[in-house]
Amino acid sequence: MTAHEPKIALVTGANKGIGCEVARQLAARGFRVILGARRPEAGRKTAAELALAGSAVEFLELDIADDAGITRAGRELAERVDHLDVLVNNAGILEDGDASVREVAAGVVRRTFATNALGPLLVTQAMLPLLLKAPAGARVVNVSSGAGALNDMTSWAPAYSISKTALNAVTCQFAAALRTHQIAVNSACPGWVRTDMGGAGATRTVEQGADTIVWLATEAPASLTGRFVRDRQVIEW
Ligand code: NAP
Repeated sequence: MTAHEPKIALVTGANKGIGCEVARQLAARGFRVILGARRPEAGRKTAAELALAGSAVEFLELDIADDAGITRAGRELAERVDHLDVLVNNAGILEDGDASVREVAAGVVRRTFATNALGPLLVTQAMLPLLLKAPAGARVVNVSSGAGALNDMTSWAPAYSISKTALNAVTCQFAAALRTHQIAVNSACPGWVRTDMGGAGATRTVEQGADTIVWLATEAPASLTGRFVRDRQVIEW
């Protein structure tokens, strides 16, 4: 890579919401952004809209709940790029906002875990060969939630909350495993953000929600790894 070549970032679930805003902000900082989305039509449309604004954004089909699809995406990306500087595991689902742990359906828990915890683990594994080739060290940001913080756990959205606790453990595992490989791995909590998931009553804009994620992906000290971060500050697990 020459000094003039842009850094490369992959953002999952980036066709809308916080992921789309993270893609937009990274592109505005000069990144070549690979916009991951499970629905090709939606992903291509968002990538084209961002590219219209002059950004280097391209679509990659990536369903993070599909093991074979993740492997395929890893192979396809390896044909397009020779390394990856940033991976943002943003895609996530919330299906049990109104459910109680006393009766939440097994299917909801399985689906939520497959997407919110296992998905980021498998995507990180699949992208690892490219991340290890980042010339100046790579950064992985797992978009988690304060709902997954054990120190502050309530009865709200049990499948979602427990899956984000598991995602935080995924962060700790990869951070420890990659510490000597110049790859920083952190969890970010975006706060309560006005998206399809967060709803119209949420307190933050997508710009505010994306801020800490983009900071961890770009400017945060490279020595910051294995942490849970909100508003650019380390918070308790
Ligand atoms: P959102 O608007 O619902 O967007 C979620 C994105 O994830 C969509 O692009 C969705 O794609 C994608 N996605 C879901 N399952 C996927 C899969 N299997 N493969 C690929 N993409 C998939 O939600 P958001 O608010 O932007 O949330 C983004 C992240 O922030 C999530 O991890 C969420 O848990 C976290 N978060 C959000 C808030 C909040 O208040 N909004 C708070 C804390 C944490 P489709 O369009 O195809 O469904």
